[in-house]
Amino acid sequence: MKELICITCPKGCHLKVDEETFAVTGNGCPRGAVYGANELRNPVRVVTSTVIVEGPARRLPVKTDRAIPKGKMFEVMEEIAKIRVQAPVAVGQILIPHVAGTEGNVVATKALAAQ
Ligand code: SF4
Repeated sequence: MKELICITCPKGCHLKVDEETFAVTGNGCPRGAVYGANELRNPVRVVTSTVIVEGPARRLPVKTDRAIPKGKMFEVMEEIAKIRVQAPVAVGQILIPHVAGTEGNVVATKALAAQ
């Protein structure tokens, strides 16, 4: 039995997940059952970071537009660290499509006006 804390909402239910059947107990709602089973089968996370903006020292906040496999997180961070963006950038603009070979894209979470 694997014990986890559900991070889907602030309540933070203490989950117990059967490692063979993926049955979940301790969840306060159905989302916890999905989270608990997925954490054992294929844990995923949204990655947030910043990228360098060309020109005067500025950084632009970015995130993946979907949760990506946890095992790909370092590869995603490496790709994010390599890029430079030029203003203007719109909110939601895709900066790295299919990052690290995943289905997720790295997108801007803030608009950046032209200088
Ligand atoms: S199981 Fe439901 S109520 Fe409990 S922390 Fe997860 S999402 Fe929130």
